[in-house]
Amino acid sequence: MSTADTSAREAAGRVWLITGASSGFGRAIAEAALAAGDTVVAAARRPEALEGLAATYPDRVVPVALDVTDPARVAAVVAEVLLWYGRIDVLVNNAGRGLVGAVEETTERELRDLMELHFFGPAALTRAVLPHMRSQGSGAIVQMSSMGGRFSFAGVGGYSATKFALEGLTEALALEVAPFGIKVMIVEPGAFRTGFAGGGALLQSATIAAYEETVGPVRATLPSTDGKQPGDPAKAAVAILAALEAKETPLRLPLGNDSADAILGHLDASREEVLTWESVSRGTDFDD
Ligand code: NDP
Repeated sequence: MSTADTSAREAAGRVWLITGASSGFGRAIAEAALAAGDTVVAAARRPEALEGLAATYPDRVVPVALDVTDPARVAAVVAEVLLWYGRIDVLVNNAGRGLVGAVEETTERELRDLMELHFFGPAALTRAVLPHMRSQGSGAIVQMSSMGGRFSFAGVGGYSATKFALEGLTEALALEVAPFGIKVMIVEPGAFRTGFAGGGALLQSATIAAYEETVGPVRATLPSTDGKQPGDPAKAAVAILAALEAKETPLRLPLGNDSADAILGHLDASREEVLTWESVSRGTDFDD
């Protein structure tokens, strides 16, 4: 199916727009949506990586070129999809990559670039689809965050900052668009077997020797997990589709045993800390 053609098309099932669809979660979610009988606009920086999928489902996959950090392309792609199908039912803001570095090691450029990819790109796509989803009175927006979007640890401050930003924006968004019949879900995976930890995708800041003890192990361990992570992206995709179908779609969906364990531990520790300092917290109001 050529993307040069702007004439209207008939969509089978729901119409999905998935970013970073060339590999990992994006690809798995695309495959699960196709298995469910839906139509997928698969957005990727290298749409040729989707030729195989498009050949398997010639009437239901449209590969499109999209770097989510390019606002003009974001607007153009959403407009194109609406010209073709007249609807977008599910937006999946999935494109992303890892970044390892202590806060002092991470440069301004690295931070800003990742914020473009994980925050401003998804925010632009969200704004672009909302007028349409509002008038349609339905739709769903899925934000691929991370367990690192709930808590952080040494070496992943920059990565977490971008995912925390996305989660903060999305928590408000969910409340704002619920009255329009639009579902919003944040997905928080642990370690999944995708291209994420591979050499080409994972970014590493230049090192400062002083951080060898705290960040060094993360630098060494993360790439060594490539291909051995416990999480299965195909199972994650099935879980995401099921959660979207549920009557009560969760705002946040942790995925993987590692994510569930770590988030529950973090919630317990956060609650304990608030309780420990509760009397101090409550002692700062005016006396009148
Ligand atoms: P992959 O590396 O397999 O896939 C990442 C995808 O994002 C690729 O298709 C890549 O395209 C795309 N991408 C990167 N930069 C851009 C860009 N500027 N514009 C458009 N697409 C881009 O990793 P995952 O599938 O794991 O990553 C998907 C999401 O899951 C990310 O948001 C990541 O943060 C999140 N995540 C992953 C975890 C994991 O363990 N796998 C854990 C927690 C969260 P290209 O091929 O062109 O580089």
